[in-house]
Amino acid sequence: GFDLAHSPTLAAIEEARALFADATWTAAPVLAGDVNPEAEETVSNPTGGTSPGTVQPASEADVATALDNAAAWDAPLDTRRATLLRAADMLEERYGEIFAILAREAGKGLPDCVAELREAVDFLRYYAGQATNTPPAGIFTCISPWNFPLAIFCGQVTAALAAGNAVLAKPAEQTPLIAKLAVEVLHEAGVPRSALQLLPGGGKVGAALTGDARINGVAFTGSTATALHIRANMAEHCAPGTPLIAETGGLNAMIVDSTALPEQAVQAIVESAFQSAGQRCSAVRCLYVQEDIAEDLIRMLTGAMQALNMGDPWHLSTDVGPVIDDTARKGIVEHIEAARAEGRVIADLKAPEGGTFVGPAILRVGSISEMKREIFGPVLHVATFKSHELDAVIDAINATGYGLTFGLHTRIDDRVQHVSERIEAGNIYVNRNQIGAIVGSQPFGGEGLSGTGPKAGGPNYLPRFSAPDHQDASGTWESA
Ligand code: NAD
Repeated sequence: GFDLAHSPTLAAIEEARALFADATWTAAPVLAGDVNPEAEETVSNPTGGTSPGTVQPASEADVATALDNAAAWDAPLDTRRATLLRAADMLEERYGEIFAILAREAGKGLPDCVAELREAVDFLRYYAGQATNTPPAGIFTCISPWNFPLAIFCGQVTAALAAGNAVLAKPAEQTPLIAKLAVEVLHEAGVPRSALQLLPGGGKVGAALTGDARINGVAFTGSTATALHIRANMAEHCAPGTPLIAETGGLNAMIVDSTALPEQAVQAIVESAFQSAGQRCSAVRCLYVQEDIAEDLIRMLTGAMQALNMGDPWHLSTDVGPVIDDTARKGIVEHIEAARAEGRVIADLKAPEGGTFVGPAILRVGSISEMKREIFGPVLHVATFKSHELDAVIDAINATGYGLTFGLHTRIDDRVQHVSERIEAGNIYVNRNQIGAIVGSQPFGGEGLSGTGPKAGGPNYLPRFSAPDHQDASGTWESA
């Protein structure tokens, strides 16, 4: 293994690549009972390389088996904590296999693989430390997206487990293999099967797992549209008051005023808009630049974008990998082409052949209010503003109804205060890149259409996985 506080050596990375370049994995339901899955399907590789393996989606019978056999994890608190900590160590040790699966199943680049494993392990250790003897909610369904298929999956599942629940975990249909590995590790570490069952599959499986009266809570991360479906499904089938913890999409903005350090702003924008091929929920989608610096800043930004390399995410020389699948690619390309037809493309790059690549693009918009949906790819929209329009820009950003991340680059102290008091966003980034969070010290989560709260990786998260009488949204909590 390697110390996750440091990056793995190139030799360790090359060794892992050689070991797992042609390996295949399979994911099938992992149940505390008999398994009767649907027919095997091939898992796609967004880079265009060989498939990383196959998946057998859970059937209706599998969902019934999982619900029938789910049992809260009633081990003593010390055992639960030690088990989760052991699982964290075991995950770190399997870094080579994890990177290979993330690269071949999700198209993740090496820096993203390292960051994702670190976040997953941080979640395990943090929630292990937060666990208390408070009674669990009961059965918790956890539904995760493909864009952080290890970190978010582990975050939800271990929060629910740390609180002592029985977990029914459904990973995104695009990324079942990394979820299977995580569940395998948790079981090997000592989590009983009845407390953690894996149900791969798509929306149908998700709907079955959120539309049953035996469910005592749902943790969901994904699009706002799916969260609204789940809420309606739960209202129809679950007991009144069954909690839904939803972390959803955003239309994230950044304001750069004429006092900002241009190089710092450009670096921050490029990282936030284009790294991970723009497939981070925190990514900046709409940049507001003050008019008097707009021409210079956009020229610098275009130059920086044109220097990006696209290609095989396993290479350190690659800056932008593929988007997750062809449906995603088509939707993003259509959006760029519609802008081109209106003469709004400032600059864009040609995507390489093979795989589901999208060339990064910078598009002009008049206002964020023209953006009707989150474009989940490497596309940055740019608008300009005059000094006296700052409050109107803040109003327009708030009027989208989303409230996930927001960035500000300025060197006026009062302005930092003014803007951050008025912007409605869960995470605000000042004079730095607009990316992610740090488990423990920077909890992450949105407001409005971007999520229900509480923030993941923060002190208020775990209590929401406890029995309703014991939930305390303020974050103060009786210790064991
Ligand atoms: P998605 O909503 O399409 O899918 C998410 C999960 O929901 C998948 O596991 C999917 O199978 C499942 N699902 C689909 N239909 C369902 C249904 N009817 N009932 C139950 N489950 C169902 O989202 P995605 O494309 O996988 O992920 C990208 C989205 O996630 C973006 O909008 C992004 O902003 C958001 N996201 C938010 C955060 C956050 O912390 N706020 C983090 C990561 C991603």
